[in-house]
Amino acid sequence: MQKCYKENIMKKCKILTLITVLFLMLNVCKQTSPSIELDDFSFYTPSQEKTPFPLVAQRTVKNVILMIGDGMGFTQIVATRTLVLGAQGRLTIERLPVTGVIDNYAADYFVSGSAATATSLATGYKTIENMVSVLPDGTPAMTILEAAREKNLSTGLVATSTITHATPAAFAAHVTDRYSEVEIAGQLLESRINVLLGGGRALFKSGISGYKYKRTDGRDLVEEARKADYAYVETKDELMQLRAENGHVLGLFSDGYLINQGSEPTLAEMTDAALEILSQNDKGFFLMVEGSQIDWAGEDNDINYLIREQLHFDLAIRSAIRFAMDDEETLVVVTADHETGGMFISVEPPNQLDGKIDIQWGTDEHNGNVVPVFAYGPQAERFMGWYDNTEIPKKIANILGIPDFPQKMTSKLD
Ligand SMILES: [Zn+2]
Repeated sequence: MQKCYKENIMKKCKILTLITVLFLMLNVCKQTSPSIELDDFSFYTPSQEKTPFPLVAQRTVKNVILMIGDGMGFTQIVATRTLVLGAQGRLTIERLPVTGVIDNYAADYFVSGSAATATSLATGYKTIENMVSVLPDGTPAMTILEAAREKNLSTGLVATSTITHATPAAFAAHVTDRYSEVEIAGQLLESRINVLLGGGRALFKSGISGYKYKRTDGRDLVEEARKADYAYVETKDELMQLRAENGHVLGLFSDGYLINQGSEPTLAEMTDAALEILSQNDKGFFLMVEGSQIDWAGEDNDINYLIREQLHFDLAIRSAIRFAMDDEETLVVVTADHETGGMFISVEPPNQLDGKIDIQWGTDEHNGNVVPVFAYGPQAERFMGWYDNTEIPKKIANILGIPDFPQKMTSKLD
């Protein structure tokens, strides 16, 4: 009887101990599980200043730098800042003094792709999925870059994707299918853009197979570009050795897209080089710079890839702001085409400012979230508020004194 009682007590003790251990284990897990192993981001030097850059006196704008973070929503920015600099840090993008919001639905889908949304940012018109600066009926629409060129401004496109990818293509090519990158390469060259920097040798030279599409018609657009007075560069060193007197530059640093390694220049280095070349024109310039792969990191739900791309984009923004501060006649507008990944930030425990941060993803595709606009420079205030993405190029045209924009072009494409 006595023995049985003791055994019962011991059994109960063991069960209680087990429950206690399990409870403690669960609690420990709760406090430590949401954590992220971060890569080394020491290439990014945080700015000591956290206050907004000053508003600039109203005056005529000579140059416009439009910067597009592909797939960059508000959370991509806040997550990068919080994980790399802490909640109280500030990325360069967050210091631009004017902020706005744009809707980004297309003519056919509420959640759209880069071709249709970039078309809106470039032409001021809505179009349908996969179309590049043509209206749904196939009519080409003039882009803000083409309108600036008409006004004798110099023009430039910089991207970390192939330079023929949907976003850069939308500023100077007109095709009904974004994936016809070989055709886009020819159109980019014909459009006499002063500076083209990015990836995509496989689209310009025949017989290169480092990308999903390749040129097979025997043409060598690099050679054709050289004959048309373009300086051609393939490495960061060659880009750095370029002198500003080169009026036309084609820089293809990879067969496909850039991977931030080896002899490739960074997005900020390409931006600096483009600014040096374009600023030789006394009449001014229009430059579009794309952080192309923020979108792909969102599709991969890869937080380290996303932070790296967001920080490289931030350094390119820093280059643009540095130039604009010095020049005083340059307007910088930073925005996105759509958001990718549906990311959100959770913190554990939720009521702690210094809790452990975790990133959750809602999708591996694009979504219908609104995206931010930031502006610095003379007339930056015109980008305040909440408006449609088609307003961006219309505002830029108006600021540059370009009449009749948006504008349909006369010929229809097949
Ligand atoms: Zn996109």
